[in-house]
Amino acid sequence: MRAARMYGYKQPLRLEDIPIPEIGPDEVLVKVGAAGMCRTDFQLLDGYFRSSLDLPFPATPGHEVSGWIEKMGSAVPKDLGLAEGDLVVVEGCWGDALCRQCHEGNEQICAHGSWAGFGPHGGYAEYMPVKAKHVIRVAQGELTPEMLAPLTDAGLTPYRGMKKLAKAGVLGPGRTVAVMGVGGLGAYGVQYAKLLSGGALVVALGRSDDKLDLAVRNGADHTINIADKSVDQVRSELEQLTGRPEVDGIIDCVGAEETIRLGFGLLATEGAFVSVGLVGNRIDIPLFPFVAREQSYHGSFWGNYNDLTEVIALAERGLIKHSIHKVAFDDINQSLERLGRGDFLGRAVIVYD
Ligand SMILES: [Zn+2]
Repeated sequence: MRAARMYGYKQPLRLEDIPIPEIGPDEVLVKVGAAGMCRTDFQLLDGYFRSSLDLPFPATPGHEVSGWIEKMGSAVPKDLGLAEGDLVVVEGCWGDALCRQCHEGNEQICAHGSWAGFGPHGGYAEYMPVKAKHVIRVAQGELTPEMLAPLTDAGLTPYRGMKKLAKAGVLGPGRTVAVMGVGGLGAYGVQYAKLLSGGALVVALGRSDDKLDLAVRNGADHTINIADKSVDQVRSELEQLTGRPEVDGIIDCVGAEETIRLGFGLLATEGAFVSVGLVGNRIDIPLFPFVAREQSYHGSFWGNYNDLTEVIALAERGLIKHSIHKVAFDDINQSLERLGRGDFLGRAVIVYD
């Protein structure tokens, strides 16, 4: 099978022909139909996770995977309802099944967990072994692997983040929710802001007019291009658009120091901020307003199995818009460079034909 594998940091992936992996008794072999390309793949190669991840080389990246079950392991329970030929998505966060977080169903934050494509085989290869409990069957219909693959991270991470804003009680009629960054995650984030907010105004904040246009097509009520603008300038633009210079909830799909600073500069009293983006390394916000205005700050990482089943259910009902760029296997390295520059509008996905 063709596989794009990593042999070290800061070097291109090697495009190779290697044997199809064996599967264990509790695994299925997924024939990869599409593998999403995430900015974290660029960061993985660049060494961003080097200190927190013990990566065995060669490693096959790719944590956004959809495809078909090619083969079933001998011990996969019949009552899981899986069969060869099924269209599936891969849940990419694999916990140890022992800790509190795993028992809560939050395998994505298991301290002893692993992630598809960050050590274990990922989707930058034509076949991938996955434990049967980590695949979710998708109803056959309009959805293609290209649409589905990004839903396992880009379309999942902002969903979980938006649920945190909902739980914080900052969404609803008369409220404003902002989505910072309309890249791979934010393009879905604005949709969830609409779907989960029950009537709030949705404002997309970004630096590229093309991406902000996409946000409007995906349901944003207003957009603000924040490039080279001060917090005060953005506040006054926000006031012209919504009648208020502040927002009640923010999901930051970028996670740079500037976006966090700007976000807190826009956050209302009792507002909630959720970080899902991971571009920067540190948070530096003024403490007194945060405490005195009873704001809250939430980290939100990827999503759990149930979050993903909810996202897939929305997709099966046709409620999610997809903006996809197909990338040929031979063009993976060039596309990774484009990802690093934030050059894609929507999500790039690798396809194998
Ligand atoms: Zn665990």
